[in-house]
Amino acid sequence: DEVARTTYGFVGADLAALSREAAMDSLRRILPGINLRDGIPSNVLESLQVTRQDFMNAMKRVQPSALREIMIQVPNVTWDDIGGVEEARTRLREGVELPLKSPESFRRLGIRPAKGFLLFGPPGTGKTLLAKAVAREAQANFVATKSSDLLSKWYGESEQQVSRLFARARQVAPTVIFIDEIDSLAPVRGGGLGEPAVTERVVNTILAEMDGLEELQGVVVMAATNRPNLIDPALLRPGRFDELIYVPVPDAQGRRHILGIHTKDMPLGPDVDLDLIAERTARFTGADLEDLTRRAGLLALRESLQAEHVTMAHFEQALRETRPSVTPEMEREYEDMVRTLKQEG
Ligand code: ADP
Repeated sequence: DEVARTTYGFVGADLAALSREAAMDSLRRILPGINLRDGIPSNVLESLQVTRQDFMNAMKRVQPSALREIMIQVPNVTWDDIGGVEEARTRLREGVELPLKSPESFRRLGIRPAKGFLLFGPPGTGKTLLAKAVAREAQANFVATKSSDLLSKWYGESEQQVSRLFARARQVAPTVIFIDEIDSLAPVRGGGLGEPAVTERVVNTILAEMDGLEELQGVVVMAATNRPNLIDPALLRPGRFDELIYVPVPDAQGRRHILGIHTKDMPLGPDVDLDLIAERTARFTGADLEDLTRRAGLLALRESLQAEHVTMAHFEQALRETRPSVTPEMEREYEDMVRTLKQEG
């Protein structure tokens, strides 16, 4: 009964595959102790049992046909790949990684961690990287979607897509669901009477799915936005995306760290001073800094395909060609938003 309840999206052939996989797993459990040349002794075969856990494990490997378009990833981003976002990292470790890894410890102390986290900040500051790293470090699966991909012109199709996403996430738990560009689900003003707009229906489905999630059952939802002021307030209420995490442009120390990460595999000339470059790249995001190092590398290659080093002159040239993607006004706006959010919350 439980397998039937949890196999949303599995067609008959998938269920057959699931049973076969579960049976094979139970067989694999006993095989190491057996000399196969003699065949499996009948008393061993008779005591063989396919367990609930065998079905649960098989569920992660058998792809349900009706949910084929939902890609489960196991990200390869680690905390070491991300620089300069100390506060966000600390909060995500405690708020997502630990509860996914050790739910019993939280249960024992009666702590109910949040189900929804909203990462906000300028584009290219590492929000997606953070979500991937948290999944990877918690040994959880990662399912990602963009809000714009959820908006279908076919009536009902969008809500179904959201439900499929959550169903698959539960099947392969522990899972981090990542919804990028959540601001595009903002209510359209003056939409008129009649049927609720598709964005509204999608928001309602997300809310219903999140309400249905139990804390500490292995599914956490993370969303990201560059425009937190546009978010549908219904998404920010308690029990929904009520943990707001600011991912700012990095300070000089953070930029130095990120430059180190992105030049890890780049042979640098002895004159390259990453501290100096960090000082001269105010308002550069992580993505801007990555772009800067790539440009410097390409300049070295352009000079000679035999180039063995990237020198300070290449970085100087790249710096002249690159602008930070965040303006002082944008930065001020974010800081203002953070202050307002802190006052409200
Ligand atoms: P966001 O989701 O905030 O728009 P991403 O996480 O997609 O930004 O970052 C885009 C790329 O920029 C990353 O793949 C990475 O190469 C680089 N990057 C961004 N932020 C950082 C960071 N804090 N540390 C290291 N690299 C970063």
